[in-house]
Amino acid sequence: MPDHTPSTPATRPAPNGKTAMVIGAGPAGLMAAERLAGDGYAVTIYEGMPSAGRKFLMAGKSGLNITHSEDLETFLSRYGTSRARLEPHLRKFGPDQIREWCAGLGVETFVGSSGRVFPTAMKASPLLRAWLRRLEGLGCTIHYRHYWTGWNDANQAVFKTPDGEVTATADITILALGGGSWKRLGSDGKWMEILRNAGIKCNPFKPANCGFEIDWTDHLIDKCAGSPVKAVTLTCGDQTVRGEFVISKTGIEGSAVYAISATLRDQWLETGVGTLKLDLCPDRTLDDATKRLAKPRGKNSLGNHLRKTLGLDATKTALIFEVIPRETLNDPAALATTIKNLPLKIKKPRPLDEAISTAGGVAWEELDENFQLINRPGTYCLGEMVDWEAPTGGYLLSACLA
Ligand SMILES: Cc1cc2nc3c(=O)[nH]c(=O)nc-3n(C[C@H](O)[C@H](O)[C@H](O)COP(=O)(O)OP(=O)(O)OC[C@H]3O[C@@H](n4cnc5c(N)ncnc54)[C@H](O)[C@@H]3O)c2cc1C
Repeated sequence: MPDHTPSTPATRPAPNGKTAMVIGAGPAGLMAAERLAGDGYAVTIYEGMPSAGRKFLMAGKSGLNITHSEDLETFLSRYGTSRARLEPHLRKFGPDQIREWCAGLGVETFVGSSGRVFPTAMKASPLLRAWLRRLEGLGCTIHYRHYWTGWNDANQAVFKTPDGEVTATADITILALGGGSWKRLGSDGKWMEILRNAGIKCNPFKPANCGFEIDWTDHLIDKCAGSPVKAVTLTCGDQTVRGEFVISKTGIEGSAVYAISATLRDQWLETGVGTLKLDLCPDRTLDDATKRLAKPRGKNSLGNHLRKTLGLDATKTALIFEVIPRETLNDPAALATTIKNLPLKIKKPRPLDEAISTAGGVAWEELDENFQLINRPGTYCLGEMVDWEAPTGGYLLSACLA
């Protein structure tokens, strides 16, 4: 059985005489490879797919939101219960350092209107190309189509390749195997069973930044599927989010839904029910909305009346007709109350594989402050495979890079 390391690890000898194996060529693994090579390790990267960074490239399809420009305190608060564990790393390599690092790879970034940071070209491919060139320059070797299947009795890492099984060892092993969504891009989450069998606690995957299913009527689907619902607030429990979302054939998706998705998902997991409250005209008080709706309608249809008095468009009006009982429609006070508190009952989150990211993964208590497995010294777990989550806005990639 061929053994890639330590006999034939990298294209140049390690200045510090040590070898590192990085498994998974997504942003977390590639950044680890860069830092280790910079520290003098001979680095070999193993990737199951035929090329690197497929999810990273996919993230760039709709504009690669690589980090966020808000003040660091607000930025750190986005990591919720995982903040304490991630903070020391994000303070060392945070939004400013990420932007400098991009510039060092020849990729300038800009701050969008919402404070999100993007490469000027919006895409991930120029950044990834420059990054892989830098890694090559640092002497890193990448073996593609090397799918890690676990450790053998001799404690070697075992890989399935088109040419059969190969094994490898190194002084340091980095696992950066990604979360459990978008399996076709390489992160299939199968590592969880391998780690559990090795006695490492992993929490089950949960969809994060995901859409939700709602039993819409055929009428609403025909009229509104694909339409945005703009300038609304969504409330679930204690959390309120302002923004927009999209009505899909199966339910709701889009930025405001993703922003509230962790709270809604957990409510649904705990109680079996998930309810969102929408405010369709958040800039008007209930009193103002009631007074406006009480104006004489004349010959106007209710839809026209809603548009003229409250500025509600056809999609918001269709949502009102979908949800509000008929008898409420002619009572201005009851109608205004419901428009500002429109209940949407969620059936369930969309399937895990469709989620932008996943919560769950290697439990924090398995890792020391440097992400090293406490019961497997020399092996580290990085990136989305660790059990933390964050909203969209560049926070996912930021923590993976940190
Ligand atoms: C559509 C979409 C858009 C997104 N947009 C953004 C965005 O704009 N901003 C943002 O911050 N985040 C975004 N994300 C999330 C972000 O892309 C991920 O959080 C990030 O890529 C995770 O990095 P990672 O290195 O931990 O894992 P991954 O990028 O998933 O990389 C893991 C690598 O490990 C490899 N691998 C897995 N198992 C094995 C194995 N057994 N053997 C060998 N190799 C293996 C995989 O093939 C993969 O290459 C988006 C995600 C999606 C799906």
